[in-house]
Amino acid sequence: MITVKASQKIFTCEEVTNLTGICAGHLQNLAKRHRLGLISRTGTLENHAEQWLFTSQDLKVLAILFQPCTH
Ligand SMILES: [Zn+2]
Repeated sequence: MITVKASQKIFTCEEVTNLTGICAGHLQNLAKRHRLGLISRTGTLENHAEQWLFTSQDLKVLAILFQPCTH
């Protein structure tokens, strides 16, 4: 069971991996396949970074559908 602060609406990839036990690699695969989360792009064209962000609703769905990684 995952408990989060009600005030928190957006979670980073790192926070979601901590909360769900799903590793970052699997998390991104699952997010793409199930159209969960959103990608925030920051930086310049030459030096850009992608940051995966998840809403509390996405987090609930992930926690219900998927087990923590065991590898
Ligand atoms: Zn994994």
